Amino acid sequence: MDIVHLPQEIRRCPHCHEAGLKAQRATRGGSWGGQAVRFLFCCDFCGYQILIESERSRWVQAFSGAALVLSGGVLAFLLDGPGNLVALLLLVLPGAVALWDGSPLAHRSMAVVGQFEGVPAAVEIEAELFLSEEERRKAYRRNRYASYVIYGVLLLTAVVLLLDFFADR
Ligand SMILES: [Zn+2]
Repeated sequence: MDIVHLPQEIRRCPHCHEAGLKAQRATRGGSWGGQAVRFLFCCDFCGYQILIESERSRWVQAFSGAALVLSGGVLAFLLDGPGNLVALLLLVLPGAVALWDGSPLAHRSMAVVGQFEGVPAAVEIEAELFLSEEERRKAYRRNRYASYVIYGVLLLTAVVLLLDFFADR
C-alpha cells in the first residue's frame, strides 16, 4: 500500500458555500489511465463529499492538454484536408478537454480559500474508493464510453485515410 500526505488546503464547499471542504482519504483514478492520486474532500458544515485530483496530476494533465492542442494546431495548419481534420479531431479536441479539466477553472466552484497549519496527515491510498454505489456505476459507464470514443475516433481515422487513399487513384 502506498502512503500519501493529505493536502492542507481548505476549499469552498460547492453545496453550502462555506469554507469547509478538507481532504480526508486518498484513492487512485481519473486523469490519464486512471492512475492519478485523488483525494476525498468532506465538508465540515454540510457533509458534502467530492473526489478531487491532486494538484500535481491536474497540472500534468493541463500541461499535456496544452501540448496536444499546440501540436494539433500546428499539424492542422500544415496539413491539407482531410489530414487537418484528423489532427483537429485526434489532438486538439482531447487536448482541449484535458486542458480544461486540469485547469483551476474547472474547479472554480470549490476554490482553495485557506490552508490549515500542522503536520500533514499521512494516509494509505485506497484501491477503490467511491462515494456511493451510484458513483461506482458511473465510473464504470465512463470507462465504457471512453473506450467507445477512442474506438470511434480510430475507426473514423481509418475511414478517412482509406477514402483519401482511393481518392488519389
Ligand atoms: Zn458544505
